[in-house]
Amino acid sequence: MSSYTANTKDMQFVLHEVLKISEAGVPGYEELDRDFTEAVLDAAGKVSSEVLAPLNEVGDKEGCVLENGVVRTPKGFDAAFEAMKEGGWTALDCDPDFGGQGMPYLLNCAVGEMFVSANMAFNMYQGLTHGAYSAIHAHGTDEQKATYLPKMVTCEWTGTMNLTEPHCGTDLGMMRTKADPQDDGSYLITGTKIFISAGDHDLSENVIHLVLAKAPGGGEGTKGISLFIVPKFLVNEDGSLGERNSVSVGKLEEKMGIHGNATCVMNYDSAQGWLLGDLHKGMRAMFTMMNEARLGVGLQGYAVAEAAYQEAVAYAKDRIQGRDVTGAKAPEKAADPIIVHPDVRRMLMDQKSFVEGARAFTFWGAHLIDRAHKLDDKAADGLISLMTPVIKGFLTDKGFETAVSAQQVFGGHGYTEDWPMSQHVRDARIAMIYEGANGIQALDLVGRKLAQDGGKHVMAFFEMVKAECKAHDDDERMKPFTDALKNASKQLQAAGMFFMQNGMKNPNAALSGSYDFMHLMGHVCLGLMWTRMAKAAFAALDNGASDTAFYEGKIATGRYYMARQLPACAMHLARIETGADPVMALADDQF
Ligand SMILES: Cc1cc2nc3c(=O)[nH]c(=O)nc-3n(C[C@H](O)[C@H](O)[C@H](O)COP(=O)(O)OP(=O)(O)OC[C@H]3O[C@@H](n4cnc5c(N)ncnc54)[C@H](O)[C@@H]3O)c2cc1C
Repeated sequence: MSSYTANTKDMQFVLHEVLKISEAGVPGYEELDRDFTEAVLDAAGKVSSEVLAPLNEVGDKEGCVLENGVVRTPKGFDAAFEAMKEGGWTALDCDPDFGGQGMPYLLNCAVGEMFVSANMAFNMYQGLTHGAYSAIHAHGTDEQKATYLPKMVTCEWTGTMNLTEPHCGTDLGMMRTKADPQDDGSYLITGTKIFISAGDHDLSENVIHLVLAKAPGGGEGTKGISLFIVPKFLVNEDGSLGERNSVSVGKLEEKMGIHGNATCVMNYDSAQGWLLGDLHKGMRAMFTMMNEARLGVGLQGYAVAEAAYQEAVAYAKDRIQGRDVTGAKAPEKAADPIIVHPDVRRMLMDQKSFVEGARAFTFWGAHLIDRAHKLDDKAADGLISLMTPVIKGFLTDKGFETAVSAQQVFGGHGYTEDWPMSQHVRDARIAMIYEGANGIQALDLVGRKLAQDGGKHVMAFFEMVKAECKAHDDDERMKPFTDALKNASKQLQAAGMFFMQNGMKNPNAALSGSYDFMHLMGHVCLGLMWTRMAKAAFAALDNGASDTAFYEGKIATGRYYMARQLPACAMHLARIETGADPVMALADDQF
C-alpha cells in the first residue's frame, strides 16, 4: 500500500527562505506567515497521508466502472471526497464572492502537491473542477457565475474540460462538434468528445461540462471554435436541478494508469448548452487558464516522483544485499542495506535533487502567477508565460524518469504489483501526454514563447540568471553553483542564437532542436533554483540555524544537481547545433 508523508519542512523552506513570501508585497501574502502556512500544510499533509494515500492502491486496482450508463468510482472515494469538501480543501484559492477562501494560488499549489502525491487520480476530480471554475470565473456572465460557481467552489458540482475528439487532439481546428443556435439564446451541442477526465462519476450531484464546439459563421480552423457550458442536469431558475441533459457516457477508456479517475467518451446529442465568453473566441477563453492548467500538470509530474522517491528511500534502507566495499555497515546482518552502494545512492540523489528543484521551480511559477494576477505585474506575466511549457514539459518528462528510477531501486520487486512502484510509473506517464503533449510544449516554447514581445521575456530571464550569479561573486562557497549556472546559461543562449541564425532559413532546424531546448532550459531553471536554495541554506547556517543536517543536506543535494545534471546542457546544445539534417535525413518509406 502507498505510504506518503508530506515534506512540509521543504515546502516551508521554499516559501519562507527562498521565495520569502512574507516580504514579497503581494496582496494576500501578508497572512502567509510561517505559523499560518505551517498549520495549513500540516493539516493538508494529514488529510493526504490518512485519507487520500490509503485509497491510492484501491483506486488503481478497482478502477471506475460504467453500469447502466452510470459511472461508479472506487470504494471509499465518495467518503474521501466528502472529507475534502468538508475540510474546505476544494475552495482554498477560490473567490470569496462565491464561497471561496481567497487564499493565494501559491498556497493552493503547495497543498495540491500533497494531494497529488497521495492520490493523483482522486485529486483530478477536484482539479478539473477548478479549471472549469476558473474559466467560468474569467469569462462567465454575472448570471452564469451566480448559477454555477458557488456549487463548483464546494465541489457539490464538479467540472470537466472537453476539447479532444477521436480524430483531433493537438490539431483542434479539425473539430467536428457542432453548436446550433436556438431562439432562446441557448445552443444545441452535438458531437463526440473522447478522453474526458472526470467526465462522469458518482461523487457529485451535477457535472458542468465545458465543451469546445463550432457555431455557424466562425470560419475554418480554430477561429470558428466557441466554448459552451453544458450541464449534465439542467439548472432551474431557483438553482435546483432540473431535467437530465442529453449528454451521456459512451464508454470508459481502459488505460495504463490513473485508474481511479474516470476517463470518458462523452456523447452530446443535441444537448443544451450556453455560450461562455465571446462567440468564436472559445480557444482564447479556454487558454486563459492555460498557464495554471499546465503548471498543475507539471506539478503532477514531480508530485508523483516525490511519492515514488519516498518509497525508494524506505526500501533502500530496509533491503539488504551485498556489502559496502569500504567495510560492512551492518555486520550483524547477512548483508548491508542497499543504500550503502554508490549506484543506489546515485539513483536516490537523482530523485531527491530533481524533486526538490522541481518543487522550488513550480512554487516560483505559482508565485509569478500571483504577482501577475494580484499586482498586474507584466514582467511576471511574461516570465510565467515563457516558463509554462518548461514547467509542463520538463517536469513531467523528468517526473516520469524519476518514478522509473525509484522503481529501479526495488529491483524485480518494483516490477510486481506487490509494491506501489508500478502504479507510480503508470500514473506519472500520462502527465507527459495530456494538456498538450510534451513535443507540443517544446514547439510552443521555441516557436512562440522565445520571440514573444520581441524576445523581451527570455532576455529578462537571462539577465535574472546573470544577476543571480553576479550577486555571489565574492562568495567562494557559491562557486560550484554559479560557475555551473553561468556555463549552462551560456549554452542556452548559444542554442537560442542557433535558432535565430538558422530557423528563418529552415524552420525544421529549430523544430528539430525544440525538445532539446526545452530540456536545456529546464536544467538552467532548476540550476537557478538550486543556486537560490543554496544561498538560503548558507544564510540559515550563517545565522546559527539548529537544523544543520537539513541545510547541509540541501547544499550537498544542490551541488549534486549542478555537478551531475547540468552537464546534460552541453549534450542538448550539441544536438541542437546539428540542425535538421540528422533528424530529417530519411524519406518516409525508409522507416
Ligand atoms: C488519460 C487521459 C486523460 C485526458 N483528459 C482530457 C480531458 O480531460 N479533456 C480533453 O479535452 N482531453 C483530454 N485528454 C486528451 C489529451 O489532451 C490528448 O490525448 C493530447 O492532447 C494529444 O492529442 P492526441 O491524443 O489526439 O494526439 P495527436 O494530436 O494525434 O498527436 C500524436 C503525436 O504527434 C505529435 N504531434 C501532433 N502534431 C504535431 C505537430 N504539429 N508537430 C509536432 N508533433 C506533433 C504529438 O506531440 C504526439 O506525440 C486526455 C487524454 C488521456 C489519455
